[in-house]
Amino acid sequence: MLAVVFGLTKFRQYALGRTVDVLTDHKPLVHIVKKSFDEVPPRLQRWLFFMMRSQLTVANGILLLESRVVIPSALQQPVLKLAHEGHPGSATFKDTLRRSVWWPRMSRDAEQFAAACDICWRSRTNHSQELQPTEVVPVWHKVAVDLVEIEGRHLLSLVDYGSRFPELIVLPGTKSQHVVMALSTIFARFGIPLELVSDNGPQFV
Ligand SMILES: [Zn+2]
Repeated sequence: MLAVVFGLTKFRQYALGRTVDVLTDHKPLVHIVKKSFDEVPPRLQRWLFFMMRSQLTVANGILLLESRVVIPSALQQPVLKLAHEGHPGSATFKDTLRRSVWWPRMSRDAEQFAAACDICWRSRTNHSQELQPTEVVPVWHKVAVDLVEIEGRHLLSLVDYGSRFPELIVLPGTKSQHVVMALSTIFARFGIPLELVSDNGPQFV
């Protein structure tokens, strides 16, 4: 590609204002030229741009590349902001841009812009939470019971699903009767819940 650019620069007085056929047996170059601008690696875009500048036109003072408006660097961020309105997904965002505007490395800039967007980031996080909906349970209908050991002491933890209210009781031991005693004191205060879930330890059988 460098050779083509060199040739066109060297003989610009003959090439300017004309359509020039470039003959090459360099397969990768043919492949690259056939691609759209955004698919070409960024380092090659400016060379391709140079070769394709015959496709640049000026209409009403606006520089166009084919039918796309060439956006100067000072306006690239405002254009990204406009195209990102409504926080579209990455593909839609880039499609919107590609349909109407162009600048070198536009796709990369669009990706970086979307990655830095707070609202998009939050909606991605919320979406993953939506996949695991939390159960809506009335207060004291369902409780979870577990035995935990902290620094050699056995504790019974109980959490109410409805209110997220936690209870923690120190157990004298881990036998069934210790667990039953502890649960009884809780149930004596709050009533007996409809459902009790546990990790099915032997004390809960
Ligand atoms: Zn966004």
